[in-house]
Order: sequence, then structure tokens, then C-alpha cells
Amino acid sequence: MRLLSGLLDGREQLWWMTDHGPLRVSDVAALLGHGDQEWTMMRYLADLEHSRDLVHSWWIWAQKQGIKTERVPDVTLAPVPQPSKILCVGLNYRPHVTESQMDIPEYPVFFNKYGNAVLGPGMAVHPPTDAREMDYEAELVMIMGRRAKNVAESAALEYVAGYCNGNDLSARDLQFRTNQWLLGKTADGFGPMGPYMVTVDEIQHPDQLEIVGRRNGIEVQHSNTRQMIFSCAYLISYISRYITLEPGDVIFTGTPEGVILGQPPAQRQWLKSGEKISVSVEGLGELTTLIGEWQS
Ligand code: ZN
Repeated sequence: MRLLSGLLDGREQLWWMTDHGPLRVSDVAALLGHGDQEWTMMRYLADLEHSRDLVHSWWIWAQKQGIKTERVPDVTLAPVPQPSKILCVGLNYRPHVTESQMDIPEYPVFFNKYGNAVLGPGMAVHPPTDAREMDYEAELVMIMGRRAKNVAESAALEYVAGYCNGNDLSARDLQFRTNQWLLGKTADGFGPMGPYMVTVDEIQHPDQLEIVGRRNGIEVQHSNTRQMIFSCAYLISYISRYITLEPGDVIFTGTPEGVILGQPPAQRQWLKSGEKISVSVEGLGELTTLIGEWQS
């Protein structure tokens, strides 16, 4: 299933993305006598053991019946509009480590974003006034569906609900202003995700996905998640030793080579207002983000 979060009349709702457009989960639920239930992504994730089969059975039924879209979202949101945690992995693809002139890490390098960084698909980011070196980072994002504490690597993917595209937008000047990256990573709108979450049953091998980043339609990043130094399962297992992961937590898994930072200093053309960046991980659709006007 492709599950999409959006706003309808100011309320957050859950849709399936079909080949014909979004189909609201609660509309189908109502047809099946479950009209008392309003569905959001967090509701789906919070009780995944139960909701996964239920929502999937409704989806199968809706397809068989040919149920058509009635109410589409007024605004499409990030799949998890208010994640409880946004964990990010830096330096997780060898060629990107090299282009960044860093050392191959012995342990995963983590940093985080906050909820203010979340940005829906197709939206514009408005960088801070003094951010001069705006860069993109195409990434695979994992969305957690079960509480994970001290989980084994072999079982770690069972805790994932689905995957989506992410763009780890970074203001390099702010990122490297001090030795803590945070400032350049979690300014408002610096964590676009979407356009929807693809459930795990459709992504058998998250570590074998093509990943492409485009700048104004031109391919600038192209790799495969098999190039990751630390795999999806390893990352979850490792994090869960120290931090309990909860349903709705999201993990940005790192970016491959091809970012602006990776170019020789004289050739770097930082992002400007009016540009369009897109991220396409295999099977996850395309996430587009517009670079808007700088804050004044
Ligand atoms: Zn990143």
C-alpha cells in the first residue's frame, strides 16, 4: 500500500495513493460499516499489528469494488506529519564520505532534526536569512511501526512500517559553523519527506534500491542503497541499544555522492531560489521540493 497523509477541511487524514489519485481510508471504512473511525497515519502506526491487516483488507476490497476517489486532500503532508523523533545518519555511503573529505566512520554518525524541519511533498523551503550554502541530500527514510528496544539486527526490519523518500536539506555554512552539525540540518523545512509511505510488504529489500536525486530535472545523484556502509537493519538494531524507537519515528539513512559540497570549492553552485530538487528511491515515487525565497 501507498499511504498518504493530508489535510481535509483542516483535519489530518489518511489516504491510499491509487493509480487514479488518493482514496480516503475512512470513506472506504464507512462503506464497510466502520464509519465511526477517522484514520491518520499515527493511528495506523500506533496499532500496526491490528491496523495493517485491517487497512490492507479494506484496500483489497476497494480495488475489487472499483471504489473511486471522492475527497482528495486540500494539502498533502509528509507521510508522518509530526514524527516523535527524526534521526539522521551522516556519511553512510563511501563515495559521499570521500567527496566530503571525511574518514570512513567506525560507528554510524547520527544527528537529528526536529518537527519544525518536516515539509510535505511539493512544498517550498524558505532558508534562513544568512544560510548561504544550501545543499540537497537524496535519502531513503525508514518509518517505524513498532516500539524497538535492544532488537537484534536479524529482526530489526520487522519494526519498520514503511519507507519514503527524504531530502536532508543542509545549509553547509551553518552545518560547519561549529563542530555540531545541528544548526545547518534542522532549520524550518529542512526535512522534506514523501510523497507517501510505501508499506514494507512492497519493499522486500530496502538495501537494494536505486536512489536518484535531480536538480531542476537533471540527475545529480544516482546510487543504490546497497552502497550504504551501515544497512537499514543494522541502523535500527544499533540505535535501539541506546534510544527506544517508537511508532512514527523516522530515520534518514544517509545520502550518496553527488551533493554540491562534494564538488571542488570553485565549482560549487549552491541552491538558489526558484530551483527544484527531487528525490526518487526505487518504488517510492518522487519527492519534489522547491527552493523558495529566503526569509527576510
Ligand atoms: Zn543526510
